[in-house]
Amino acid sequence: MKLINQNTWQTINDETCGWVHTTSKAPSFPRLEQNIQADWVIVGAGFTGLAAAYRIAELNPTDSIVLLDAEQAGKGASSRNSGYIVDITLNDGGSTLADEQTQLAKNRLNKAGLDLLRQRVEQYNIPCDWDESGKFHCAADNRNIPKLKNFEGFLHRAGLEHQVWTKERLSERLGTEFYQYAVQTKSGVLVNPAALVNGLIENLPDTVQLYEHSPVIEMSQGNTLYLKSINGSVSANRAIIAVNALMPRNGFKTNRVFPLTLTGSLTRQLSESEYAAIGSPRPWGVLSASSMGATVRLTNDRRILVRNTVEWWPGLAMDQNALATRRERNYSGLRKRFPGLTNLEFEYSWSGNVCISRNSKPVFEQVNDNLFFAGCYNAGGIAMGSLFGKLIVDLALGNESDELAQLLNQDKPNLLPPGPFFDIGLQTRLAFNRFRGRTEA
Ligand SMILES: Cc1cc2nc3c(=O)[nH]c(=O)nc-3n(C[C@H](O)[C@H](O)[C@H](O)COP(=O)(O)OP(=O)(O)OC[C@H]3O[C@@H](n4cnc5c(N)ncnc54)[C@H](O)[C@@H]3O)c2cc1C
Repeated sequence: MKLINQNTWQTINDETCGWVHTTSKAPSFPRLEQNIQADWVIVGAGFTGLAAAYRIAELNPTDSIVLLDAEQAGKGASSRNSGYIVDITLNDGGSTLADEQTQLAKNRLNKAGLDLLRQRVEQYNIPCDWDESGKFHCAADNRNIPKLKNFEGFLHRAGLEHQVWTKERLSERLGTEFYQYAVQTKSGVLVNPAALVNGLIENLPDTVQLYEHSPVIEMSQGNTLYLKSINGSVSANRAIIAVNALMPRNGFKTNRVFPLTLTGSLTRQLSESEYAAIGSPRPWGVLSASSMGATVRLTNDRRILVRNTVEWWPGLAMDQNALATRRERNYSGLRKRFPGLTNLEFEYSWSGNVCISRNSKPVFEQVNDNLFFAGCYNAGGIAMGSLFGKLIVDLALGNESDELAQLLNQDKPNLLPPGPFFDIGLQTRLAFNRFRGRTEA
């Protein structure tokens, strides 16, 4: 049976991701240009596929592993994200006991993924601006403060380390007077995601053969799986599909998950006088109290990141014209927060895709004896993707753990409404949420 079946590959990743340009050059790997065999094939070299490769090598050190990426390895969402290795999330949180239990269960998984990454960063000494200062959940609009107070109550009941910030001290800490109130969670980590993913690629175990610019355009199931690329193929005993937001584009889970496209921009480095003008704050990361609000960071190298657009963009790739209009929106977010930095411009703007399901549940699935899927992290996949990559291998090899049991017990993504209803419903919902979150954008 054919699963993936497309004639060619249309490039998605633009060349203007700020994280990629502000870290050291990524290693490069060949295209697949022959027909080869392997014990395992992994499709997708982002956090999920990389974690799967490491785990196979750990558990079955003599197994051969082929890792294929359609574009440059790691340069999809894994390099394009905002670099928050999340501990606990606000926007998933509700107020019932059951909601809190769900949120805590997710926190345990995030923490396991974060610990896994921390261990690799330490083991391989990966220079990725790893910063354990947590993240600030901020409200600019007073109407959003009760949501943060509710979150604070939850963190308190759950015994999770956090700090409440009121306007005056917050302004001093961040260097902007834009926000009224914040709850800082202390166990999340900030990174340059492109540097982290490069480090993971550079240190891949020797049993992994990585091929870039080698899209799988056809895949057939059977006792042996056959994956065809443009100039070569892989026959393998087991396959792991780790393509996250690109699942529907590859013909997978089309009625369960969908991509949304985000755009972010990164300024040039602040000059000494600009940095002094905002009070010389230490680096920080702000997440908005509204799901449509802006994600903003002051990076280690004193740049400001703004990411404040979310949209349904079925082509997935944005050209430079489309990016230019989104940069204007990123710019208005920058101006609102730093009106005094009048000469500060963005140096880079880029887009990336996240994978969403209606009920915020991930895909973690054994399709049959030799085919496995992991993805759909609903916009928070650095830690989660790393954990899912590890656990999908554990599932394949029968390696039991509490975390694996927890994942297998989770609900699956709900069915999406059919075509036109989905389009209209999604556009309406995004427009409504955008309107509600406009003061935080
Ligand atoms: C703008 C933005 C901000 C974000 N911010 C955060 C954040 O701060 N914190 C957080 O935790 N998460 C964040 N995310 C989400 C996070 O980046 C993703 O959840 C995570 O990177 C998913 O990793 P992955 O390996 O599953 O997928 P990806 O990194 O998307 O990797 C999948 C790979 O599969 C390859 N592929 C697809 N189809 C094929 C094929 N047919 N053949 C071969 N290869 C194929 C792609 O080229 C790609 O490299 C953000 C995402 C975006 C876009």
